[in-house]
Amino acid sequence: MVYVAASNRYEHMQYRRSGHSGLKLPLISFGLWHNFGGVDARKTGKEMIRKAFDLGITHFDLANNYGPPPGSAEEFFGEILKTDLAPYRDELIISSKAGYKMWDGPYGDWGSKKYLVSSLDQSLKRMGLEYVDVFYHHRPDPNTPLEETMHALDLLVRQGKALYIGISSYDAKQTSEAVKILNDMGTPLFIHQPAYSMLNRWIEDGLQEVLEENGVGSIAFVPLAQGLLTSKYLNGIPKGSRASKGTSLSQEEITDATISKLIQLNEIAKERNQSLAQMSLAWVLREGKVTSALIGASKVEQIEENVKALDHLAFSKSELEMIDSILTS
Ligand code: NDP
Repeated sequence: MVYVAASNRYEHMQYRRSGHSGLKLPLISFGLWHNFGGVDARKTGKEMIRKAFDLGITHFDLANNYGPPPGSAEEFFGEILKTDLAPYRDELIISSKAGYKMWDGPYGDWGSKKYLVSSLDQSLKRMGLEYVDVFYHHRPDPNTPLEETMHALDLLVRQGKALYIGISSYDAKQTSEAVKILNDMGTPLFIHQPAYSMLNRWIEDGLQEVLEENGVGSIAFVPLAQGLLTSKYLNGIPKGSRASKGTSLSQEEITDATISKLIQLNEIAKERNQSLAQMSLAWVLREGKVTSALIGASKVEQIEENVKALDHLAFSKSELEMIDSILTS
């Protein structure tokens, strides 16, 4: 059946400006790291993308290596663009990245200009796009001069292959240096993509300050700690869950101490009339410091549940204190 986007798609979602840029991102963005590879069910993947867009999620996040096999998530997204989303291209923010191993030999990994330029060309081909909205360097490269990597990003913007530039998993110092180099070239850093959730608060130790001072936005990846910060693992490891597959979330990470914290957090969520997933996303977005929470999903219902986090974003001082004391106990 021909897809027609829901006419009320902009009624519920909220959008936040990324740093000092002119571009707003939805508070909830959607990533295709898991469940969109060549090995995954096409039907569910397509339904999830359609539902996300119908709910006002305008931002879809990819990378050269998402799959498996690497590249297949971009191919899949390219198919959906062609069949469903092409008429809506100007309503979409599509991102990709390069920085992890993508092909054999010395030019298919890390942060050289050769790698980044070739990789984005490949990504554009796989998705059937003329440009991506955001292109990221996926991780810092200790062996390539930062100037070279930043020059590559600047070049891609000047060539019209990317509209905005991002970096991922750079620490506070690396980010400061990247900002400086990019500002000197006239291509400001648009966004930083760090891991951030109630179970991983590293960005509060310096990085957030650098981003705020320099007007750079941020988009938090794995905001649900790969599903841990939902109600799914409170009573064991359900069949079919990410932890049951053990691909990127191992069962060893689900310790008794973590479960005990999750149970206490879940009680606070209940008091707020939210699910734990919804409270976890509201927490990432609290006080407006993070531009967007970048979720993944394996089912349409998860996206529906997660977007409802927007119904109750505010926290009282005492709720935040209770959460802090659970997390630090
Ligand atoms: P999340 O922390 O949002 O975890 C998503 C997973 O949690 C889902 O696949 C699902 O797993 C489970 N889940 C989600 N919602 C619910 C719910 N309401 N109830 C129960 N379970 C739920 O993020 P991801 O780990 O998927 O990462 C999100 C995106 O972040 C990626 O797609 C990618 O775009 C980006 N990313 C970027 C990285 C980087 O280096 N820049 C690294 C990693 C991710 P299940 O299969 O168990 O149902």
